[in-house]
Amino acid sequence: MSTAPTEPTTAADPLVATSPSRTADASRVATPRPDYRLWAEQVLAGRDLTHEQAIAILRSPNEDLLAVLDAAFLLRRHHFGLSVQLYFLMNAKSGLCPEDCNYCSQSKVSTAPVPKYNILQRDKLMAAAELAAGRQAKTYCLVISARGPNEREMKAVEEIVPEIKAKYGLDICACLGLLTAEQAQRLKACGVDRVNHNLNTSESYYAEICTTHTHADRVQTLHHVRDAGLEVCSGGIIGMGETHDDVVAMAMQLRELRAESIPVNFLNSIDGTPLARTSELTPQDCLRALAMFRMVSPQSELRISGGRELHLRTLQPLGLYAANSLFVGDYLTTEGQPPEADYQMIRDLGFEVTGAAAAPHSQPADTHGDSASCDGEGSCGGQGGCGGGSQPLPVPVTEKTATRGIGDCGTGGCGG
Ligand code: SF4
Repeated sequence: MSTAPTEPTTAADPLVATSPSRTADASRVATPRPDYRLWAEQVLAGRDLTHEQAIAILRSPNEDLLAVLDAAFLLRRHHFGLSVQLYFLMNAKSGLCPEDCNYCSQSKVSTAPVPKYNILQRDKLMAAAELAAGRQAKTYCLVISARGPNEREMKAVEEIVPEIKAKYGLDICACLGLLTAEQAQRLKACGVDRVNHNLNTSESYYAEICTTHTHADRVQTLHHVRDAGLEVCSGGIIGMGETHDDVVAMAMQLRELRAESIPVNFLNSIDGTPLARTSELTPQDCLRALAMFRMVSPQSELRISGGRELHLRTLQPLGLYAANSLFVGDYLTTEGQPPEADYQMIRDLGFEVTGAAAAPHSQPADTHGDSASCDGEGSCGGQGGCGGGSQPLPVPVTEKTATRGIGDCGTGGCGG
């Protein structure tokens, strides 16, 4: 399978405006720059962004980047103000997956040295919830690597979710793989708020990234989730060799599905997976993708997910002009940047964290490296010298540390 991008990421395109004054390449056809802000105003007025407009955003030149982000920000600000919502990922079961998703370090075809363990015991899941609350997370994302949950895993989730909600007031997003209608109903009944199950890419490209289940299987799970009265969290991974048309097709499908939450991952191509060392994204590509998702689904929560630090690099803050949500802390099998760096970035932008869990038992926010939630690994981003906190970090995150630098898609996992 070809894994190289099949389209240039910053191509000159007839839909994309360039003018002689904005390009040194006289051979390019001079056309007016699209009025991205007008497109945003039309979206605000209720007119859906078209496929062609979405493609034009993805292919827009770097010199249009601020205009594209300005348009996306118009919609972001209208629906979410300057708020940023934080999510906390917990890899409750790692590795050992029978599926063959090419991008995933936990698949059966991956030789990446990720931690392998079955679903964690209650104390570890609760310790992670405490950490999530201390880090100002709104939502605790409980993830397992699996085609779908077995009965033991379902029961573990049903047992822990009410306890976490009662003690920490966190919203719960379950990412357990393919679900039956009955499993979705059970998740709703035990207090799960939303289910994550990513489309990952377009229907037509799906067979290139996975053969053990289909795109239709994933869509069916999302219908079960919706029918059970749960919120839908579904997004994708950019940089797997798909075309711009694939990315836009996925975005349009997520709009049709009315996904309340859209996580956008940028492939962290991992040694040991079939997609090792294939991703060729630039920070500008990532920003254009985020802007496009915002313009297509203006009211959806848009989360910059796996690959944020790797691909956006110094341009991470600009991503929040389109997106309104981040993961705080580590990803499933890789480390994120220290939480304090995220808090600082949000403060520097003049944005604010909102929606943090506010339960009577939750710890104070970990914005100053306080020892109550210190992981003892210097992740507070503070001045050091604290000697580490008194609270041990949940085992999975410690295990993640052993895989530092390996990377995965970020939200990988069964739903990702
Ligand atoms: S993405 Fe999920 S289903 Fe696919 S291999 Fe990874 S853990 Fe398994």
